[in-house]
Amino acid sequence: MPLPDLNPPAASAEAPESTPPPYACSHCHDCGYNNFPPADVCPKCWSESTTLQDLSREGILYSFSTLVGRDSSQFVGYVDLPDKIRVFGLLTTTDRPDCGTPVSFVEARPVGNGPCFVFDVSPTQEA
Ligand SMILES: [Zn+2]
Repeated sequence: MPLPDLNPPAASAEAPESTPPPYACSHCHDCGYNNFPPADVCPKCWSESTTLQDLSREGILYSFSTLVGRDSSQFVGYVDLPDKIRVFGLLTTTDRPDCGTPVSFVEARPVGNGPCFVFDVSPTQEA
């Protein structure tokens, strides 16, 4: 007697595309509030008059943490943008950064494997 097929083929529900999230916030045209991540409704005034607005590519490192790996360490941190938005991202530096250092946006990566935004840490002033 054949065994029942316990793994019927999925109804071709394609896996969600691994497209990077937009590097953007939603801007409210009624009260001016920028919201991240973007939303269709302004959380401050409930206006639906919002549009997607690209985030500034330059920001300031607010805080960071070290991810200690077997072979190397990585840094992640929060970046304050002039848009009054704070985003979380991976920092490209291999040296311990300083809070308050200017950083610049490099790329957005697909969600699912760590931080999706990557920032380059500007070289600090030479010692
Ligand atoms: Zn608003």
